[in-house]
Amino acid sequence: MKPPKFNYLRPNSFEETLDLLEQYGDDAKIMSGGQSLIPLLNMRLSTPAYIIDIGRVKELQGIREEDDVIVIGGMTRHVDVERSKLVQDKCPLLIEGIRWIGHAQIRSRGTIGGSIAHGDPSAELPCILTALRGEIVIASKDEEITLTPEEFFLSYLLTSIEPHQIVKEVRFPKMVKGSGYAFEEIARRSGDFALAEVAVAIELEKSGMIKDAKIAMGGANPVPFIPEETEEFLKGKNPHSSLIKEAAFMQLDELEPEGDIHGTEEYRRNLSGVLLERALTKAVAKAGGGVLA
Ligand SMILES: Cc1cc2nc3c(=O)[nH]c(=O)nc-3n(C[C@H](O)[C@H](O)[C@H](O)COP(=O)(O)OP(=O)(O)OC[C@H]3O[C@@H](n4cnc5c(N)ncnc54)[C@H](O)[C@@H]3O)c2cc1C
Repeated sequence: MKPPKFNYLRPNSFEETLDLLEQYGDDAKIMSGGQSLIPLLNMRLSTPAYIIDIGRVKELQGIREEDDVIVIGGMTRHVDVERSKLVQDKCPLLIEGIRWIGHAQIRSRGTIGGSIAHGDPSAELPCILTALRGEIVIASKDEEITLTPEEFFLSYLLTSIEPHQIVKEVRFPKMVKGSGYAFEEIARRSGDFALAEVAVAIELEKSGMIKDAKIAMGGANPVPFIPEETEEFLKGKNPHSSLIKEAAFMQLDELEPEGDIHGTEEYRRNLSGVLLERALTKAVAKAGGGVLA
């Protein structure tokens, strides 16, 4: 199907973008990579009067270091993050997870801001951002605000962003040197959205005990889920395989997966536990700890 008719606006600067959002925001949709928006238009699930294509807005592109944070502009494409040495060195979990997004063709067009703004609970980036306790910077003509993932992601494909606002940048905290990490996911076919996914970052003490665990689970709930009790349970303990198994399955009753033709509710719930066990095991091993049988 072809998209419905719309007016096409292509700003050349960030300031111009904010002006257009101020003027047309209520009837407009921002287009970054178009990898989710174009299908929505074609299926007539979205019928904006204006499309604001931000592909030429240089101020929204790029990756930089700022104290303890890697700051990624909203219009930065997935492929540029995937190939970034800075991200590889300071936030390798992001590289590991981003490779699961669709296929190379999709990652060469899709953007960080678009993935976050789209708010799909099965998408990789919201899950990683939530696990790492990152932040989303939102701008409008009048103000700039910074939100946590909990404040930003409200429900399935629903975020707190207003029509006159834009995801300006996404802030990923640098990972502690030597920490272990893993991103695990199962999809029906390579490149599909996840049936379930988990992102994990682990820090170990010199003694081998777990110092800190950061976890997010995606695909099961309307927004990425942080199993806080599990994180607390792991701290200060020896990462023995039986401990990891116990941790991985301890909060599954707080997941709310919906059953469909791709998998029952029970299957998705159990899958989340299996993936968390695998991710924790890999992350501990990467952090230099041996997981004892
Ligand atoms: C075949 C296929 C498979 C895919 N598989 C995956 C997958 O496995 N995992 C995954 O995460 N994604 C997947 N995607 C989606 C892809 O990652 C998209 O790139 C991403 O969801 C949206 O990014 P985009 O830049 O293309 O955004 P767009 O499609 O341009 O926009 C998406 C939505 O976000 C809004 N938006 C865009 N940018 C901004 C901004 N800066 N500020 C505010 N609002 C904004 C738009 O108005 C629109 O509502 C897949 C897509 C396809 C076509």
